[in-house]
Amino acid sequence: MADFQGVDFMRIDDLLTEEEILARQSVREFVTKEFLPRIQEHIRQDGSFPMELVPQMAELGLFGTNLSGYGCAGLGNVAYGLVMQELERGDSGLRSFASVQGSLCMYPIHAYGSDAQKDRWLPPMAAGETIGCFGLTEPDFGSYAQGMRTKAERKGDGWVLNGTKRWITNGSLAHVAIVWAQTEDGVQGFLIDTQNAPGFDAPDIKGKFSLRGSVTSELYMKDVELPDEARLPGVQGMKGPLSCLTQARYGIAWGVLGAAMACFDEIVQYSQERLVQGGPLAGKQLTQAKLADMLTEITKGQLLALQLGRLKDQGKLEHVMVSMAKRNNVDIALQVARGARDLLGANGIVDDYQAMRHMVNLETVRTYEGTHDIHTLILGEHITGMRAL
Ligand SMILES: Cc1cc2nc3c(=O)[nH]c(=O)nc-3n(C[C@H](O)[C@H](O)[C@H](O)COP(=O)(O)OP(=O)(O)OC[C@H]3O[C@@H](n4cnc5c(N)ncnc54)[C@H](O)[C@@H]3O)c2cc1C
Repeated sequence: MADFQGVDFMRIDDLLTEEEILARQSVREFVTKEFLPRIQEHIRQDGSFPMELVPQMAELGLFGTNLSGYGCAGLGNVAYGLVMQELERGDSGLRSFASVQGSLCMYPIHAYGSDAQKDRWLPPMAAGETIGCFGLTEPDFGSYAQGMRTKAERKGDGWVLNGTKRWITNGSLAHVAIVWAQTEDGVQGFLIDTQNAPGFDAPDIKGKFSLRGSVTSELYMKDVELPDEARLPGVQGMKGPLSCLTQARYGIAWGVLGAAMACFDEIVQYSQERLVQGGPLAGKQLTQAKLADMLTEITKGQLLALQLGRLKDQGKLEHVMVSMAKRNNVDIALQVARGARDLLGANGIVDDYQAMRHMVNLETVRTYEGTHDIHTLILGEHITGMRAL
């Protein structure tokens, strides 16, 4: 029997540097030893995250991994992708925590913030002492985020914010909320110091079937007064939030492979041990066809992610490439998780096995950061030059 612990069928490790392999190894060990023993307890509660692991995550350089300066690890984009993969091998909620902190919160401060904003927020965010959240989606505007109703109006030298954001990862945990709002000059980003913002509230959303090991909240802003220094000065319009989403979607294209690999590892082992009709489940032709499909799709996804990373390091990445990789890799990860859940039979519906947890998590990942359909439309427009209605 082949060893699929790392699921490296096409010897992709030969294409990686030592630094990239080391980054992957350290996160794999952390997830195996520290995170996986805790996840069952957290998913049995709704919306709880093992916050006690945050200092260790910071120590490993998991916040702002591919950013430089301000205490960030400054690794390349392939190493960053492998880190995301290993986190999501644990759980999509764990990867989401790091994605939101690094790609959706630290990235815009790093790219568009003033020097004072960078000095104030980035070092404690890299150290995991300050947690961020990213508020774009609203109750009535998800895919069409530019329709947002949250407004920031000038008042004297500062601003007043009013509006509601929904489905915000880490909302109630956040010390700093990056909120995107309509202004007279188009959409702009504001950094709300949540501990010192009268009129700001972040209640949690309960009853989730998916991403239960992750905090998801609403953000309410009622006459929240902010100084002009709280506005991100370096960007105006939807380019601001969309450029952050490109960063996070890049991480997702890698991350979901970790979830798929976890399901694949589990089902290869299980099918060897499970006896059905006089022999191992693994010895049946139908099972082998399913496993062959899973391995092939994971391998194709790995090659897509790796080339995406190399292009990103060379400054040649285009957002449509990220759309293709996010769309494809989430889709195949979901297929692998569903197939593994099916092969587990009844055992597949309990949390002693990972497949169903990954499967329901991946339903969220298919929806957030641009739904599968939205990425289809982005690719369709790129191919035809026509924006579909
Ligand atoms: C657990 C979780 C965490 C999240 N975290 C965050 C976060 O941290 N910050 C944040 O800002 N947001 C976050 N989101 C929100 C997420 O990004 C949105 O849910 C997503 O953008 C989709 O928006 P929607 O839910 O309003 O769905 P809708 O936009 O209403 O879409 C519903 C359906 O319609 C389809 N559709 C939409 N437009 C079209 C079209 N033009 N043509 C054809 N079909 C279309 C979609 O593909 C989908 O199938 C999170 C969501 C979840 C579930």
